[in-house]
Amino acid sequence: MNSSVLTRLREAMQIRTKVVFSLIVLICLLSAGLKVILYQVVKPEFEQLEKAQFTENIGHTRNLLIQESKRLETLAYDWGVWDQTYAFVSGSNPGFEQSNLSETTVENLTINQMFFVNQQGKVIWSQSHNNEFTGFMPDQLWPDNHLLLNQESLTSSGLLLTRSGPYLFGRSAITDGDDDQPRNGALILLRKLDTALLDLLETLNEHPTTLTVSDTPQWDTQIELISEKEALITAVLPFENSDALSLFLQQQQSRKINHQASDTITTVFLSTLVMGLIVTLMVYLFLRQHILIPIGRLNREAEEFGHNQNVDCFSLPPRDDEIGILFRTFRQMAEKILNYQSNLVKEKQSLEQASMTDQLTGLFNRRYLDQSLPDQIRFSGISEWTFVMLDLDHFKQINDKFGHDMGDLVLEQFSQLLSTLVREHDHCIRYGGEEFLLAMPELSDIAAGECCERIRIAVANHQFGSAEHPLQMTISQGFILFTRYENLNLARIEHYLSYADTALYAAKHNGRNCWVGIDARRSELPTDHIEMLQQLEQGQITILQRDTAS
Ligand code: GH3
Ligand code: MG
Ligand code: MG
Repeated sequence: MNSSVLTRLREAMQIRTKVVFSLIVLICLLSAGLKVILYQVVKPEFEQLEKAQFTENIGHTRNLLIQESKRLETLAYDWGVWDQTYAFVSGSNPGFEQSNLSETTVENLTINQMFFVNQQGKVIWSQSHNNEFTGFMPDQLWPDNHLLLNQESLTSSGLLLTRSGPYLFGRSAITDGDDDQPRNGALILLRKLDTALLDLLETLNEHPTTLTVSDTPQWDTQIELISEKEALITAVLPFENSDALSLFLQQQQSRKINHQASDTITTVFLSTLVMGLIVTLMVYLFLRQHILIPIGRLNREAEEFGHNQNVDCFSLPPRDDEIGILFRTFRQMAEKILNYQSNLVKEKQSLEQASMTDQLTGLFNRRYLDQSLPDQIRFSGISEWTFVMLDLDHFKQINDKFGHDMGDLVLEQFSQLLSTLVREHDHCIRYGGEEFLLAMPELSDIAAGECCERIRIAVANHQFGSAEHPLQMTISQGFILFTRYENLNLARIEHYLSYADTALYAAKHNGRNCWVGIDARRSELPTDHIEMLQQLEQGQITILQRDTAS
């Protein structure tokens, strides 16, 4: 997976997925880290403990052997410092053998061999278990400097190497119990150190032990970890009669502590993992309850607000934490947006209003006629409409005689007067120059004529101009009545305007200060202006009313 795929994956993940994924990765790393630390730090401690245990175990076996040799030493002492023995060895106690030494003496003492040696090295009496030949003594004489004969200490014990293998021995000098008397040889008890003896001890030490004689120079207990489950432990027992060779006790012990340590580490690892996953679940549930669900709700409410534009879409949860503040902030933001939007609408409306208003007269302008009037008529729901075109008569003369400003003043005065003469819902438009347009709904032919007449009289009777130059004005009007089309557009409006214009032209032609009206609701009118004028002249088109001021 390359980095761009990872980035896309990260971006596509929801917060809840990211949180859970991050926490699981964190927990796994923590658990794995903990496991490594336990293996690196704790396991060696356990290994030390294990080694101490191994050493203790094999030391236990060694101690059992030493104890056994001490037993032999104690036995030898009991007999050796007995004056009867002393006498027996010196030959003055013939009854000793009969009364103390039997065929089963060795067996009774649980040893393999026992012999009395006098100071000259002569073996006075000896017995082997089942008459085995131990190989320790080739003949009946010992050199009188033999190590077991010439030791200074009264008793001794230890390990001897013989041709038959290793033997535990216990020795006592033979005395009559009086320390001042010279010693008279030695009593030696031997016990073969073989697997049989070790098997016997195994019931005590629990660990199967093997023996080897080796010249490997090794003095301490050695521990070799064979596997995760087994270890080989070697301990050394020195031979009293050999400095070059030693006896090696080897035990194969199971690594219980190591096992326990591994089990403990695995348990800790799994516990951490499980606890971590539980914590992850709890964190997720907490996040979900306190953050993710509220954020989802806020999101839905924001979408609803987008559709409805209503601040009540935003709920106000009763909490003062960051989420509560977020909800309130969103609501305040929505309120500001709505305010801003309504201000914009108002500004737009006033701008539109301004752009459709004639500056001089305050009436609607041509832009209103082009951009708004068609829709106003189309959506009015009113089918009958009247367009009246009004034109001030001989207006040019005002300009010419009194100047352009006077002309403007007259236009303003006329507009104000016109506004007072029409209804509120009539559309009053400055068509251009000194021409005006009235778009009036729901007028009958008679009412339309009456309206034009009312305007005509009002204008004629009104005093325009200034106090210094009072002026009288007249007005000519042409109007048309038509029925609204379903799909009325600007082109169609202009078509009707041209009819009204023709009617106005007819009124001018008729002598001014009058009006001409055409009803286009029922009859089709010629599209050509001149032809229409001719038809008007010839009375082919019904003129609703025609009047000329006298
Ligand atoms: P008729 O009776 O045939 O309509 O004659 P008339 O003089 O009114 O018409 P004509 O078209 O010959 O002249 C119109 C004049 O109106 C010409 C123009 O200078 C003047 N005019 C147009 N717009 C304005 C304006 O905004 N202010 C002023 N002061 N005069 C204007
Ligand atoms: Mg004109
Ligand atoms: Mg005019």
